Amino acid sequence: MSSPYPLALLLQGRRVLVVGGGAVATRRVPALLDAGARVEVVSPHLTPALRALADAGRVAWSERRFQASDVDGAWLVQVAVDDPAAAAAVSAAALERRVFCVRADDRHAATAWTPATTRHGAVTVAVTAGGDPPRAVVIRDAIREGLLDGTLPGCAVPSPAGASAPAREVVGGGRVVLIGAGPGDPELITVKGRRLLAEADVVVADRLVPGLLLDELRPEVELVDASKIPYGPAKAQEEINRILVERAAAGLMVVRLKGGDPYVFGRGGEEAIACARAGVPVTVVPGVTSSVAAPAVAGIPVTHRGVAHEFTVVSGHVAPDDPSSLVDWPALARLRGTLVVLMGLKNLPRIAATLLAHGRAPETPAAVVQEGTTGAQRSLRTTLAEVASETAAAGFRPPAIVVVGEVVGILD
Ligand code: SAH
Repeated sequence: MSSPYPLALLLQGRRVLVVGGGAVATRRVPALLDAGARVEVVSPHLTPALRALADAGRVAWSERRFQASDVDGAWLVQVAVDDPAAAAAVSAAALERRVFCVRADDRHAATAWTPATTRHGAVTVAVTAGGDPPRAVVIRDAIREGLLDGTLPGCAVPSPAGASAPAREVVGGGRVVLIGAGPGDPELITVKGRRLLAEADVVVADRLVPGLLLDELRPEVELVDASKIPYGPAKAQEEINRILVERAAAGLMVVRLKGGDPYVFGRGGEEAIACARAGVPVTVVPGVTSSVAAPAVAGIPVTHRGVAHEFTVVSGHVAPDDPSSLVDWPALARLRGTLVVLMGLKNLPRIAATLLAHGRAPETPAAVVQEGTTGAQRSLRTTLAEVASETAAAGFRPPAIVVVGEVVGILD
């Protein structure tokens, strides 16, 4: 057999016929929609996922068996039926009309193959390996891994240290991306976050960012440790803003990497404002926040049917009786749901006392999780009445989260 001729089809607005409404069609249709194709599904039955797409008007559905004239006007046919005779009938109709036809059941009878693909921003990698799809998948996976960890350059052409990257000037010069690195486990960064991190020229990282993520950076990437910037906190923030704006203005791709989610007590909003004011393009990649993830890995779901229909995340950085506090602690004491307190260790005695004084029951279950999702994770379970003394006695240290509510212990 001669070798296939690779192509990338531009399907925007073009009609693509999918015959079959089962598992194969369910897997294939999203990529066709992503390419902008006008997808028409012919099948007496649809899976619930395809049914939802049909109900939403995203695919057209003909609720019946295939007939040869369905191929008329299609640019591509995707055969996704189990029955070989039915599949052969579709193939024959497509061949007669000279429309390329992908066969999920029999690649030898097909006139086109769908490669194993991975998408990486604007880059699409498509792999075929002769008649050996599993081999194509293995190669595709290796390439995807390389693109994600930066060992393959992706769309970022490695630039000499200090020089601006020509590849990026083409896409509009410097910019800042605020990326949530997740709660601590390096695998809990998002796929998008990891991809953009691998493209960075400059990374400005917080103290709580998983070290292993920084270990993956190319040697020429400039790493700024934001926690080592001198001056007081306010001055340090100004200095961080200045570094972000200055590097981006020099045409560099700047990643501001923050623990958890950038906009949950991370001052990410201030940095976004500073960049916008300076005319620097800035985008955000949300992260897995420790306020949900740390309880989760300690066995505490922040909501549970019939137990807690709300969870409230507050900062305990400012003590409840401090005039500058923006938190209505008496109101929180009256809530029945889950209370998650970040940065609350130092003020825990006063926080617990305030909640008790305003009506939260002393026997309410409570937990503390230190360094959740990391190898150093530790946690304790107690009650609201005891949480401050037990936390102190056990020597818990930041970063730690306090959870108060009936969800603590619900999975035991
Ligand atoms: N933006 C971060 C929170 C920054 S505030 C997020 O979305 O997770 C820093 C506080 O977050 C810490 O003082 C601690 O209360 C909490 N925290 C962050 N990582 C944590 C972890 N791995 N385990 C427990 N608490 C954590």
